[in-house]
Amino acid sequence: DDRISRISSSIRVIPDFPKPGIMFHDITTMLLNPVAFKDTIDLFIERYKDKNISVVAGVEARGFIFGPPIALAIGAKFVPMRKPSKLPGAVISEEYSLEYGSDIMEMHVGAVEAGERTLVIDDLIATGGTLEAAIKLLERVGANIVECACVIELRNLKLRKCYKELDYGHKRKVN
Ligand code: 5GP
Repeated sequence: DDRISRISSSIRVIPDFPKPGIMFHDITTMLLNPVAFKDTIDLFIERYKDKNISVVAGVEARGFIFGPPIALAIGAKFVPMRKPSKLPGAVISEEYSLEYGSDIMEMHVGAVEAGERTLVIDDLIATGGTLEAAIKLLERVGANIVECACVIELRNLKLRKCYKELDYGHKRKVN
Protein backbone atom coordinates (compact mmCIF):
# COMPACT_ATOMS: atom_id res chain seq x y z
CA ASP A 1 0.00 0.00 0.00
CA ASP A 2 1.82 3.15 -1.16
CA ARG A 3 -0.30 5.19 1.24
CA ILE A 4 1.84 3.94 4.14
CA SER A 5 5.07 5.31 2.68
CA ARG A 6 3.35 8.61 1.84
CA ILE A 7 2.11 8.87 5.42
CA SER A 8 5.46 7.86 6.82
CA SER A 9 7.39 10.46 4.84
CA SER A 10 4.93 13.20 5.81
CA ILE A 11 5.81 12.86 9.50
CA ARG A 12 8.84 14.80 10.64
CA VAL A 13 11.20 13.78 13.43
CA ILE A 14 12.61 16.55 15.59
CA PRO A 15 15.56 15.65 17.81
CA ASP A 16 15.79 16.82 21.42
CA PHE A 17 12.16 17.90 21.79
CA PRO A 18 10.69 18.51 24.35
CA LYS A 19 13.95 17.60 26.09
CA PRO A 20 17.42 16.39 25.14
CA GLY A 21 17.54 12.78 23.95
CA ILE A 22 13.93 12.58 22.74
CA MET A 23 13.26 12.11 19.03
CA PHE A 24 9.85 13.75 18.70
CA HIS A 25 7.58 12.49 15.93
CA ASP A 26 5.74 15.55 14.69
CA ILE A 27 2.45 14.77 12.93
CA THR A 28 1.69 18.45 12.20
CA THR A 29 3.65 18.16 8.95
CA MET A 30 1.24 15.39 7.88
CA LEU A 31 -1.68 17.78 8.50
CA LEU A 32 -0.08 20.20 6.01
CA ASN A 33 -0.35 17.47 3.37
CA PRO A 34 -4.06 16.84 2.69
CA VAL A 35 -3.30 13.71 0.66
CA ALA A 36 -1.30 12.06 3.45
CA PHE A 37 -3.80 13.18 6.11
CA LYS A 38 -6.68 11.73 4.08
CA ASP A 39 -4.72 8.51 3.45
CA THR A 40 -4.31 8.13 7.21
CA ILE A 41 -7.98 8.68 7.97
CA ASP A 42 -9.05 6.45 5.06
CA LEU A 43 -6.93 3.53 6.30
CA PHE A 44 -8.62 3.71 9.68
CA ILE A 45 -12.07 4.03 8.12
CA GLU A 46 -11.47 0.98 5.92
CA ARG A 47 -10.47 -1.04 8.95
CA TYR A 48 -13.28 0.05 11.27
CA LYS A 49 -16.30 0.88 9.12
CA ASP A 50 -17.97 -2.54 9.34
CA LYS A 51 -17.16 -3.33 12.96
CA ASN A 52 -20.33 -1.96 14.50
CA ILE A 53 -18.40 0.61 16.55
CA SER A 54 -20.53 3.22 18.34
CA VAL A 55 -17.79 5.10 20.23
CA VAL A 56 -14.49 6.58 19.07
CA ALA A 57 -12.55 7.71 22.14
CA GLY A 58 -9.70 10.13 21.36
CA VAL A 59 -6.79 10.78 23.70
CA GLU A 60 -5.81 14.43 24.26
CA ALA A 61 -4.37 16.10 22.35
CA ARG A 62 -3.59 14.46 19.03
CA GLY A 63 -6.31 11.84 19.35
CA PHE A 64 -8.60 14.87 18.93
CA ILE A 65 -7.19 15.38 15.43
CA PHE A 66 -7.54 11.82 14.14
CA GLY A 67 -10.55 10.61 16.13
CA PRO A 68 -13.38 12.93 14.96
CA PRO A 69 -13.06 12.38 11.17
CA ILE A 70 -13.00 8.62 11.79
CA ALA A 71 -16.03 8.84 14.11
CA LEU A 72 -18.04 10.86 11.57
CA ALA A 73 -17.20 8.49 8.73
CA ILE A 74 -18.16 5.32 10.61
CA GLY A 75 -21.26 6.83 12.25
CA ALA A 76 -19.93 6.72 15.82
CA LYS A 77 -19.92 9.31 18.58
CA PHE A 78 -16.65 10.96 19.59
CA VAL A 79 -15.60 10.97 23.25
CA PRO A 80 -12.64 13.09 24.39
CA MET A 81 -10.29 11.56 26.97
CA ARG A 82 -8.85 14.66 28.58
CA LYS A 83 -6.10 15.97 30.80
CA PRO A 84 -7.28 16.83 34.35
CA SER A 85 -9.66 19.73 35.11
CA LYS A 86 -10.60 20.38 31.48
CA LEU A 87 -14.00 18.70 31.31
CA PRO A 88 -16.85 20.77 32.82
CA GLY A 89 -19.21 17.97 33.85
CA ALA A 90 -18.88 15.09 36.31
CA VAL A 91 -15.84 12.96 35.45
CA ILE A 92 -14.13 9.71 36.26
CA SER A 93 -10.33 9.85 36.50
CA GLU A 94 -7.43 7.50 36.11
CA GLU A 95 -3.91 8.27 37.26
CA TYR A 96 -1.11 6.73 35.23
CA SER A 97 2.66 6.76 35.28
CA LEU A 98 4.83 8.27 32.57
CA GLU A 99 8.51 7.67 31.94
CA TYR A 100 9.14 10.49 34.42
CA GLY A 101 6.31 11.30 36.83
CA SER A 102 2.59 10.72 36.39
CA ASP A 103 -0.50 12.20 34.81
CA ILE A 104 -4.28 11.94 35.05
CA MET A 105 -6.81 11.19 32.32
CA GLU A 106 -10.49 12.08 32.62
CA MET A 107 -13.73 11.25 30.86
CA HIS A 108 -17.26 12.56 31.28
CA VAL A 109 -19.65 10.37 33.24
CA GLY A 110 -22.38 9.14 30.92
CA ALA A 111 -20.42 9.63 27.70
CA VAL A 112 -20.06 5.88 27.14
CA GLU A 113 -22.61 3.29 28.15
CA ALA A 114 -21.93 -0.27 29.27
CA GLY A 115 -21.48 -2.64 26.35
CA GLU A 116 -20.77 0.02 23.72
CA ARG A 117 -18.30 -1.10 21.09
CA THR A 118 -15.40 1.32 21.40
CA LEU A 119 -12.35 2.25 19.37
CA VAL A 120 -9.53 4.17 21.12
CA ILE A 121 -7.42 6.53 18.99
CA ASP A 122 -4.13 8.31 19.63
CA ASP A 123 -1.34 9.52 17.38
CA LEU A 124 1.51 7.52 18.86
CA ILE A 125 2.23 4.62 21.18
CA ALA A 126 5.54 4.46 23.01
CA THR A 127 5.35 2.54 26.31
CA GLY A 128 1.58 2.03 26.07
CA GLY A 129 0.97 3.75 29.41
CA THR A 130 -1.36 6.37 27.94
CA LEU A 131 -3.52 3.84 26.10
CA GLU A 132 -3.54 1.65 29.19
CA ALA A 133 -5.07 4.53 31.19
CA ALA A 134 -7.68 5.07 28.46
CA ILE A 135 -8.55 1.36 28.45
CA LYS A 136 -8.92 1.32 32.24
CA LEU A 137 -11.23 4.35 32.24
CA LEU A 138 -13.40 2.88 29.49
CA GLU A 139 -13.51 -0.55 31.13
CA ARG A 140 -14.67 1.05 34.38
CA VAL A 141 -17.86 2.13 32.62
CA GLY A 142 -18.24 -1.26 30.96
CA ALA A 143 -17.17 -0.30 27.44
CA ASN A 144 -16.41 -3.12 25.05
CA ILE A 145 -13.02 -2.11 23.62
CA VAL A 146 -12.75 -3.41 20.09
CA GLU A 147 -9.27 -2.05 19.37
CA CYS A 148 -6.79 0.71 20.07
CA ALA A 149 -5.21 2.32 17.04
CA CYS A 150 -2.35 4.78 16.58
CA VAL A 151 -0.70 6.32 13.56
CA ILE A 152 2.84 5.68 14.86
CA GLU A 153 4.33 2.94 16.98
CA LEU A 154 7.78 3.48 18.50
CA ARG A 155 9.13 -0.03 18.38
CA ASN A 156 12.40 0.64 20.11
CA LEU A 157 10.57 1.02 23.41
CA LYS A 158 9.31 -2.05 25.18
CA LEU A 159 5.55 -2.03 25.58
CA ARG A 160 4.76 -1.93 29.24
CA LYS A 161 1.83 -4.26 28.91
CA CYS A 162 0.09 -6.13 26.16
CA TYR A 163 -3.66 -6.31 26.04
CA LYS A 164 -5.30 -8.85 23.85
CA GLU A 165 -7.61 -6.06 22.65
CA LEU A 166 -4.65 -3.94 21.64
CA ASP A 167 -3.94 -4.24 17.95
CA TYR A 168 -2.18 -1.22 16.59
CA GLY A 169 -4.13 -0.44 13.48
CA HIS A 170 -1.50 0.98 11.23
CA LYS A 171 2.12 0.79 12.10
CA ARG A 172 5.12 2.74 11.08
CA LYS A 173 8.47 1.14 11.70
CA VAL A 174 10.71 3.77 13.22
CA ASN A 175 13.83 1.77 14.02
P1 5GP B 1 3.15 6.26 25.94
O1 5GP B 1 2.17 6.51 27.03
O2 5GP B 1 2.73 5.15 25.02
O3 5GP B 1 4.55 6.04 26.47
O4 5GP B 1 3.28 7.60 25.08
C1 5GP B 1 2.30 7.95 24.14
C2 5GP B 1 1.76 9.33 24.41
O5 5GP B 1 2.77 10.29 24.41
C3 5GP B 1 0.77 9.71 23.32
O6 5GP B 1 -0.35 10.39 23.88
C4 5GP B 1 1.58 10.61 22.41
O7 5GP B 1 0.78 11.65 21.87
C5 5GP B 1 2.68 11.16 23.30
N1 5GP B 1 4.00 11.13 22.63
C6 5GP B 1 5.14 10.60 23.12
N2 5GP B 1 6.16 10.74 22.27
C7 5GP B 1 5.67 11.37 21.19
C8 5GP B 1 6.26 11.77 19.93
O8 5GP B 1 7.44 11.58 19.61
N3 5GP B 1 5.42 12.37 19.06
C9 5GP B 1 4.11 12.58 19.34
N4 5GP B 1 3.36 13.16 18.39
N5 5GP B 1 3.54 12.20 20.50
C10 5GP B 1 4.32 11.60 21.43
